Amino acid sequence: MSTPAEDKSFQPYWFAEAMQRELGGQPNVLDSDIQTDVCIVGGGYTGLWTAILLKQQQPNLDVVIIDKGLCGSGASGRNGGCLTTWSTKYNSLKKFYGEQEAIRLVKASEQAVYAIDRFCKEHDIDAQLRMNGTLYTATNSAQKGAMDSVLAQLDKEQINSWQKWQQARVQHESGSTLHQEGFYSPVAASVQPAMLARGLKQVAEKMGVRIYEDTPMENLHAETPITITTPNATIHPGKVVLALNAWMLEKFPQFKRSVVLVSSDMAITQPIPKKLTAMGLTDGKNVVDLRTFVHYYRSTPDGRLMLGKGGNYFPFANKISKVFDQPSRYTRILRRSFNRLFPSLQDETFAATWTGASDRSTTGLPFFGKLNDHDDIVYGLGYSGSGVAQTWIGGQILASMTLNQNNQWTECGLVSGPRGQFPPEPIRWLGALTVRNAIRRKEHAEDCDRKPLWLDKQLAKFANAVAKTDKNN
Ligand SMILES: Cc1cc2nc3c(=O)[nH]c(=O)nc-3n(C[C@H](O)[C@H](O)[C@H](O)COP(=O)(O)OP(=O)(O)OC[C@H]3O[C@@H](n4cnc5c(N)ncnc54)[C@H](O)[C@@H]3O)c2cc1C
Repeated sequence: MSTPAEDKSFQPYWFAEAMQRELGGQPNVLDSDIQTDVCIVGGGYTGLWTAILLKQQQPNLDVVIIDKGLCGSGASGRNGGCLTTWSTKYNSLKKFYGEQEAIRLVKASEQAVYAIDRFCKEHDIDAQLRMNGTLYTATNSAQKGAMDSVLAQLDKEQINSWQKWQQARVQHESGSTLHQEGFYSPVAASVQPAMLARGLKQVAEKMGVRIYEDTPMENLHAETPITITTPNATIHPGKVVLALNAWMLEKFPQFKRSVVLVSSDMAITQPIPKKLTAMGLTDGKNVVDLRTFVHYYRSTPDGRLMLGKGGNYFPFANKISKVFDQPSRYTRILRRSFNRLFPSLQDETFAATWTGASDRSTTGLPFFGKLNDHDDIVYGLGYSGSGVAQTWIGGQILASMTLNQNNQWTECGLVSGPRGQFPPEPIRWLGALTVRNAIRRKEHAEDCDRKPLWLDKQLAKFANAVAKTDKNN
């Protein structure tokens, strides 16, 4: 399998930008056997936050991270950088975990946004973090009202950070007259995602975490004493944290039906700061529309415009293939959306496109647990396209589980393993494509102010079954 570290010919835009700032420096590859208290496998946000939070609590704990490529080369170094909360997932949270837990988790996700901002400031991480909120909008009349039910619930619980804006303001602050309705929450930020991941790596190293890159876990032998084999050395850890995200499925097939891997495709323009300023797009506010597979966009500090769209590519058997380490196959779809949102920019070329795998769970929420009930091996995955802020919560949960603590994190509803399963192959894959195509037809009809076909509406409900306002990046 090709990884960014193995195949240096392609790096997603953000990751390449972050690595250019790290002059020289070869990855530290593990080449001799080691012992450690805790080995974290996977150096994305989940693994890095877990390591940092462990070290904050127990500075003398020996913590090792291994990554098969470079830290941040997975989803963490290529995402949209939209730090949003779980407030729009309140209905799902309540359905699966009850009212009190739902309130607590919404608040925890808000706490995560502020904590990441504070952590970057305290540790001088230049991740271009801008606390300028997020706008959820309707880009056609069918999307209008999609936020009503969840906002009513948030209001009832007095945890509503959202306010409805006048349409003129929505259009002015989003740089597009396509938006017909919009809700703004200040509890959100944007970030250069790879610079956040690489910054966390540097802080973790300063705290004494030993990090080995280009060091894939080949096998995990769960019998006591636990061993992890890598190409050149064996690790003897007391405890293991599996922070593998989409790659969990290839190492541990028991999770193959717990998530669906789906691409999120992204494009970024050349710097066009004057044009963006004229359009009101300067502060990096995240703009997300309310279709099933959302459009999301924002400006960058150097005056580029980034646009992402989820829900294009569903790999057969959930296999992470080379498709995820190439420019996006769906540039035409991105271009069409871009031109529709920003007709005045249709002559602007994309400087880069790329893609990545999101791990969509049956609930639209991540899940955590002990691998095969093993007390010393914990895991977490399934962020479902909302992970930039939420991996901080994942880190809290996994650190607390590793330290055998009984606290709000270990007792949280998300620590119950996967809930439900997707159908087996080939039904899952065929079903995913059928639903995706129905959603595409339905949303195209709605964009043209036409009535969608009845059958397409019914099929689209399968994707919406999780919750109407669960949006997938
Ligand atoms: C294109 C895209 C856009 C997104 N946009 C947003 C967004 O705007 N906002 C938002 O909130 N969320 C977004 N997400 C989701 C978010 O990026 C993820 O939820 C989050 O980064 C997950 O972090 P992680 O550490 O769990 O996984 P990852 O960052 O994927 O880390 C897993 C790590 O495991 C390593 N690994 C794999 N196999 C092995 C092995 N055998 N041995 C050792 N290491 C291994 C990988 O190299 C990788 O570094 C997006 C995701 C994608 C793909």
